[in-house]
Amino acid sequence: MITDQEKGHQKRKNILESTQEVIHEALDKLGYPDEMYELLKEPLRMLTVRIPVRMDDGSTKIFTGYRAQHNDAVGPTKGGIRFHPSVTEVEVKALSVWMSLKAGIVDLPYGGGKGGIVCDPREMSFREIERLSRGYVRAISQFVGPTKDIPAPDVFTNSQIMAWMMDEYSRIDEFNSPGFITGKPLVLGGSHGRETATAKGVAIMIREAALRRGIELKGARVVVQGFGNAGSFLSKFMYDAGAKVIAVSDAYGAIHDENGLDIPYLLDRRDSFGTITTLFKNTISNQDMLELDCDILVPAAIENQITEENADAIKASIVVEAANGPTTNEATKILTERGILLVPDVLASSGGVTVSYFEWVQNNQGYYWTEEEVEEKLEKVLVHSFNTVYNTSSARKVDMRLAAYMVGVRKMAEASRFRGWV
Ligand code: GLU
Repeated sequence: MITDQEKGHQKRKNILESTQEVIHEALDKLGYPDEMYELLKEPLRMLTVRIPVRMDDGSTKIFTGYRAQHNDAVGPTKGGIRFHPSVTEVEVKALSVWMSLKAGIVDLPYGGGKGGIVCDPREMSFREIERLSRGYVRAISQFVGPTKDIPAPDVFTNSQIMAWMMDEYSRIDEFNSPGFITGKPLVLGGSHGRETATAKGVAIMIREAALRRGIELKGARVVVQGFGNAGSFLSKFMYDAGAKVIAVSDAYGAIHDENGLDIPYLLDRRDSFGTITTLFKNTISNQDMLELDCDILVPAAIENQITEENADAIKASIVVEAANGPTTNEATKILTERGILLVPDVLASSGGVTVSYFEWVQNNQGYYWTEEEVEEKLEKVLVHSFNTVYNTSSARKVDMRLAAYMVGVRKMAEASRFRGWV
């Protein structure tokens, strides 16, 4: 079932067009010709597949899946696979562009890719999900690989699904191929720190942004939209840092307590899709939650949540986008004009792909790092990236999103130019 929140985000402006607007502006500011925009505005390749899956009741259901490869001038493409009923071709394309930008911002040797399957895993059994995951890999196997395009988890996919996909690919490839996919369980070549990496990255961004705004994290009021991988671990990191997480939400609604929520209890009770609010009687809507009086607001759910309709009502001093595309371009302008520090998705949520890169490097070397080594490297990369974007924003007098796009697009544009593509 698609919830009202999920329906709402589909109605808004096409997210590919929104990201294209900012790419165009970033390339203009960097002085690239229009041909460069023509090359980078869409993925280089887009595959659509139909996946027949035998369901538990004996019937066969045909699912539609996508894999987009935005640009591979820098290196193989990289990005997650999303299982969600509202997945569309346009969304997967936009998400692949965002992955290119993330890889550019944190300076990884990758271009962006993304996959998606139109399905609702909340209504499927464990074995149906396994058959769907394996079917998807069979359908895209010639198109992907450890040196071509490397998938990872995204919305409603997890390490178990990565394990099935790795197993299926290894059978087809006739080699054990851990480097085909990241976000795997530790025993199958996963990396320490990958599961919490997106949230760790967001927590580092919050710390850096709070420093710039003179906000003490201890006692700060934090609102987190979404209780999936990013939102739930982030809430825990904020709780551990002494912040007051006053509201969290899922696709069905939000729970709010001015004294701060008991995050360890909520983590314990959430289901594998991040559903938590259905256990409570007194809930508020996702929209009301976004407008709560707080210091730090973290949209960690889905696209198009902060728009020109509610941007004026946002009361936070800092907005850190843990989800992909939660704020529209128009809303970005309004928030920036109002003096709110916005840390954009392509920067804020890049911790996940950064540790995915570490996982891939470890797989290629066959030599594994400790949790401390991973954390230290992640910290270094993300603080450097935050500073680069923040300084670009101040020096070029542009908002943080445009600054992040300028930093993110440059390496890919340069690589395309050196290859002689433009
Ligand atoms: N799905 C995550 C993202 O959107 C991670 C991608 C990856 O690790 O390759 O950044």
